[in-house]
This record gives sequence, C-alpha cells and structure tokens, in this order.
Amino acid sequence: MSEKPEAGSKDFIREIIDEDIRINRYGGRVHTRFPPEPNGYLHIGHAKAICIDFGIAEEYGGLCNLRFDDTNPCKEGPEYVEAIKEDVRWLGYDWDGREFYASDYFEKLYEYAVELIKMGKAYVCDLSPEQMREYRGTLTEPGKESPYRNRSVEENVDLFRRMRAGEFPDGSRTLRAKIDMASPNINMRDPVIYRILHVRHHRTGDKWCIYPMYDFTHCLSDSIEGITHSLCSIEFEDHRPLYDWFLDQLGVHHPRQIEFARLNMTYTVLSKRLLIQLVEERYVDGWDDPRMPTLRGMRRRGFTPQAIRNFMARIGVAKAESVVDYALLEHCVREHLNKVAPRVMAVLRPLKLVIDNYPDDKVEMLDAINNPEDPSMGKRKVPFSKVLYIEQDDFMENPPKKFYRLAPGREVRLRYGYFVRCTDVVKDENGKIVEVHCTYDPETRGGDAPYGRKVKATLHWVSASHALPAEVRLYDHLFTKPNPLDVEEGKTFKDYINPNSREILTDCMVEPSLANAKGGEHYQFERLGYFCVDSVDSKPGRLVFNRTVTLRDTWAKIKKKIGGATEK
Ligand code: ATP
Ligand code: MG
Repeated sequence: MSEKPEAGSKDFIREIIDEDIRINRYGGRVHTRFPPEPNGYLHIGHAKAICIDFGIAEEYGGLCNLRFDDTNPCKEGPEYVEAIKEDVRWLGYDWDGREFYASDYFEKLYEYAVELIKMGKAYVCDLSPEQMREYRGTLTEPGKESPYRNRSVEENVDLFRRMRAGEFPDGSRTLRAKIDMASPNINMRDPVIYRILHVRHHRTGDKWCIYPMYDFTHCLSDSIEGITHSLCSIEFEDHRPLYDWFLDQLGVHHPRQIEFARLNMTYTVLSKRLLIQLVEERYVDGWDDPRMPTLRGMRRRGFTPQAIRNFMARIGVAKAESVVDYALLEHCVREHLNKVAPRVMAVLRPLKLVIDNYPDDKVEMLDAINNPEDPSMGKRKVPFSKVLYIEQDDFMENPPKKFYRLAPGREVRLRYGYFVRCTDVVKDENGKIVEVHCTYDPETRGGDAPYGRKVKATLHWVSASHALPAEVRLYDHLFTKPNPLDVEEGKTFKDYINPNSREILTDCMVEPSLANAKGGEHYQFERLGYFCVDSVDSKPGRLVFNRTVTLRDTWAKIKKKIGGATEK
C-alpha cells in the first residue's frame, strides 16, 4: 500500500531499526505508536508522523498502536478523538483495535510516581508557577534548588496522596522529579511530573484532580504498551534524556525514542495553535475548509490519501529541518488524479455559442472518452445541439498575436464534436459580447478533420439546453507569502492571509452526466483542472464543486528549471 523507499536508499530510522533487528534488541520486534493529543484536528504534518509510524510497522511486519495522549483535560474532547480516528482510517491505516488512552494508565502512573517518591527521586514542591520560573534558571545560568526539595519521603508520600484527594487548590503544589537544577538541559531541572487541576476529564470524569505531565506520561505509556521504537518529531530531542531517565529509574521496559524533522510547507502553517486561530477568528469556514492544511480540509478539497502517502514517500525522512514546496504535494495529487479521475466537460464562465447552420431541434449524442490514460474507464455520450456554452476566455473579438482560440473568422475544434467557424457576435447595450455565432462543418464529426485541415485550438463546451447549473469554488494558497511566519515587526501571520484564496463562481454549467455526482467524487474538467464534488454543500439539484488543483504543474516546471534534481 504505502510506497517503499527505493532499494539502497533507506532513511536513518529504518537503518536504526535494521540494526536493532540484527542485534536482536527487543527480540527483533517492531512496535510503534501514533500518539495524537485529542485537542484539535489532524493536519498534513501529522500525516507525516502517521505514515512513518504506521508505514514502518507495516513494512517490518510489526504493529502500530493508536494512543490518545489525553493528559490535558482543559482542551481535549471526544469529538476530536472520533475525528482523529476517521482521518487515520481515511489515510489508509488501521490499528486493529489497539486503541489506547494515556488516561487508561492514570492509576498505574500514580503508582510509578509514588515509587519515585519512595526512591527519593521525586518531591512535592510548594513554589508558585512564577517562583518556579525564577528558580529554573536560563540557558546560560543554572537553576536554584527549591526549598522543598529535601522533604522527607514520608512527608512527600503524604502530601502527594492529599494532592490526589483534592485537599489543595489548583497551582498550589506540584510533584517534581529530583534530578539536577544545574543541568545544561533545562528539561532536566527538576521537571514537574504532576499538577493539580480540578477539571473534569472526558474519559475519567471527576476521578482525578491531579494530572501527569507529558514527559512522564509518554515514556511510561510507551513502556506499558511494549513499544520498541517511539518515533516523534524533532522538538522532543531535548526531552529524550528525561524520557530515558524515568524509564531507567523505574527499571521498566525501555523503548527507544527517535526524532525526525517536522514537516513544514510553503504558503501554509502547520500548528494546531495557529490553525485554531484561523477557525475561531473566521478567516476560514471551519476545520474542513478546503483551504486548510488539515486532513479534513484536504479531503474536502479533493486531495486523495494515495496522493498524500506518495508525497510522504517522496519527501522521505530526515533529521534536518526543511520546508517542502506546496507544489510538490499538488504534483502528487495531480499525478494520482490523472489516473483515476474521469474527464468531463464543464464551463465555468459561460458564453453562448450558436451554430447557425445546425438544425434547430437536432440533438446528437457524441462519444466522449472518460480517461485517455485508462481505456478501461470507457466512454460516455454527451449531447450536442445548436446552442452551446463555451468559456468566455476562449473567445476574443480582437485577439492579440498569440491567442489561438476562437475569434471572428477563425475555425476551432469543439472537443468530440465538430469544427466551427465564427461568423458574427451579438452584443448587449453595454457592448458586452453575449453571443458568438458560428457555422459548423458536418464533415468534421467527432472532431476529426478531413486530411490536412488543421485548427490551432480545441475547446470544451456544453449543450445549453442539456447542461446543469453548478457552483464552482476556486482556491489559491491561504497565505500570500511562502513563509507566513516570517513576519515584519508589528504584524502576525494573519496579516499575510491571501484575500483571494477563494473565488466562488455561481453561474457554471456542467455536462448532464454529472447529474448524480456524489460528494467526494473526483473529476477532471477538461482543460480546467481537477475538481471534487463538495461533500457538505453539494446535493442533487444543487451541484457544488471544489477545484482541487489546476492542470498546470508548477512542480514539474521547477524541477525542469533546476535540471531534474531530486526534490529532497
Ligand atoms: P501541533 O504542533 O500542530 O500543535 P502537536 O505536535 O502538538 O501538533 P500532537 O497531537 O501532539 O500534535 O502530535 C501527534 C504526533 O504528530 C506527534 O508525534 C508529533 O510529533 C507529530 N507531529 C505533529 N506535527 C508534525 C509535523 N509538522 N511534522 C511531523 N510530525 C508532526
Ligand atoms: Mg504535541
């Protein structure tokens, strides 16, 4: 299913795993996990982690768990859990029922914390959050030890039990690991492992009023589940010593954490914290707005899971940060849709074309090929008649030199139809062209000309009396700048939102074969691009399409310019 890297080009994670298998570390097992926090919807950055976690497990005949890292009840909820599951499945991965929650381990984690206290490795601290910040030190200065650091084991056990029992208000006390306030790694300066939070949890209800912190929870959850390789993005590199410290102190199964570079892409932002602002401040219509880099946004836009997986296989896995050109993702989408999307004709900005010498009531059903790339997709019939619509763009009364489409006196081919020659135009009182008149040549049926006769353009069209009205939404990048986080003074990333990121065309006309088009279906509108039936707003009788991508492959162009160098 997922693309395998080419032979001999294994990434550093697969090399590490190969070696672990060779030396029989973990008994040759490979067991990964994907650990989302259910506090938002998944974006294309998460898809990279999913493809790595599930993809590697699949390749090595191992397992991958889906584990919700639900330790912060303030921002988490079951609606996110369901959405995340749906998105992972959509990407094409399955956790075979191994759906776990960090909150399932709260009791066990509490016991581990008590064990640390008893070993003299953790203490209850009464410093306020502000004081704690002061005591922590900086990158250049060591921290100071908390005055509560040397409490007796008995006092710590008792206070921690009373923290759990709800005797103290939020923020009044914490449980901290006793490591080293002078460590050059700030994460090792007696990090907090439990905080008091009188907040209801979506799964454990009111059972707990203390919650474990990420660093403590994550390594132990990995350990409890028997994970072998804990793959995560690079920001956790500085947390690895702490990951290892907890597991070493407690002497439990010790998975290996390996970090890889986060996915960054041009013209978008990939951080829940930023995406949530776009949604809440209504810059977009919601998490599934087709301009969003969320998986539900991309799905609605018409990106396919196969295309996203191919994209991930092409960008590969490395440790060094990089920014991937959005055009490469679009290239992968185009590449996949080119194979699977049937082609149809649709006119976005209609202009009436009347064929004066075509019989008034005649209708011909012409053969049209569904996908020249794949003959097995067959043919369909398209109605042709005296009055058609073509694109306004395809006609010019006074064409400049390089315009080869329809103009007065000029002949063009109508796709699958006939050659037509423009004889006249009709204008309204403002001088706007409202009708183009033509004559057709019956000898050119099917678009084939008698030998030797050439035209320079082939236009798409629909038959006016048969076409169906449709709304089409065109999209462009959400931001005007390749890196919207590179902001001028006094500005934020939101100052670079592209005001023209969406254009809604309400007067489009599509061929009648689309009458029963269903939400989520993909089509190529000939000469215009790939489009997807909108899964929210499109209904029988009201067709709505999203433009997924245009046909112009800017990635192929870039590649040509740089001499076919690889995209990595
Ligand atoms: P965000 O930074 O968008 O808020 P997050 O890292 O807080 O996301 P989590 O739900 O904690 O979101 O992430 C789940 C997994 O996805 C983590 O293992 C994280 O490393 C990975 N991940 C998140 N963003 C990216 C990204 N841009 N590229 C690769 N992996 C990512
Ligand atoms: Mg995170």
